[in-house]
Amino acid sequence: ESKASGRDTWRFFDPQMQQALESRARLEDRLRLALRDGGLWLDYQPQINRERRLIGAEALLRWQDQAEGQISPAVFIPLAEETGLILPLGDWVLDQACAQLANWAKQPGTAALTLAVNVSAHQFQQPDFVARVREVIALHHIKPGHLKLELTETLLLKDMTEAAQKMEALKGSGIGFSLDDFGTGYSSLAYLKRLPLDQLKIDQSFIRDLLEDSSDAAIVDAILGMARSLGLQVIAEGVETDEQYNFLLGHGCDAFQGYLFGRPGPSNQLSAGIQ
Ligand code: C2E
Ligand code: MG
Ligand code: MG
Ligand code: MG
Repeated sequence: ESKASGRDTWRFFDPQMQQALESRARLEDRLRLALRDGGLWLDYQPQINRERRLIGAEALLRWQDQAEGQISPAVFIPLAEETGLILPLGDWVLDQACAQLANWAKQPGTAALTLAVNVSAHQFQQPDFVARVREVIALHHIKPGHLKLELTETLLLKDMTEAAQKMEALKGSGIGFSLDDFGTGYSSLAYLKRLPLDQLKIDQSFIRDLLEDSSDAAIVDAILGMARSLGLQVIAEGVETDEQYNFLLGHGCDAFQGYLFGRPGPSNQLSAGIQ
């Protein structure tokens, strides 16, 4: 650092910050290696309907580092977003997810399942995003209707016109869209009618205290009512108790996901806790 940068220079040598920067860089290197050499996989968490039948799953990315152990996606996804690694990572996830769908299509018991895949902002904003998704679907010969992309509000609001165009294009191919973490972003509700969504996914923060917190109950009820008027399906995430499930059932929720029905895990354990 030169003198020109002045008084704030010391910040760079703050040992804690230095350490944070180094561990971040190390993690980035390791994630890059994992993409090349292995250590990544998808877990699948069941999604069920009002009859408590398995209708599909959400694919959740996992990373086990040889030295650091398992690292949470809450840590490595934001890191991958900042470094651009999310692009190859996102491609890898889409490819794995479509391979899984192709596998399910071979057995009558799993042929109708849908798979929800999380899409990051950086990934969605690539000019060739639509082409990439179509490509991977064609490569695995899957029914586009079995693939559901989970987008977030923040991602969509950046450039709504462009987002709507991309969604329309993919929707035209038969792909579904769910709005993840619904209610936690900037809920300018006008976009709900401009975007070709199929489903709202109520964020788990509203589900957690549903039975104890009357404002959470009111919000969930309002989301369900609004979705019904707009012709959108609703799935609740983070359902952990029978009480939460019954409340949601009673208020007309269409689909459910949460530890009550199954934790994320290998695809062959998908229906373990359901029937
Ligand atoms: P998300 O998409 O909102 O996923 C739901 C999170 O809630 C998952 O955390 C899941 O394991 C957790 N969960 C599910 N049911 C319950 C429950 O009943 N109770 C509680 N307390 N938690 C529950 P996870 O797997 O740690 O993923 C965290 C976030 O990382 C995801 O949130 C998503 O934003 C991101 N993520 C995961 N996989 C991918 C991916 O392949 N691509 C991208 N771009 N993001 C991903
Ligand atoms: Mg999700
Ligand atoms: Mg979510
Ligand atoms: Mg979430």
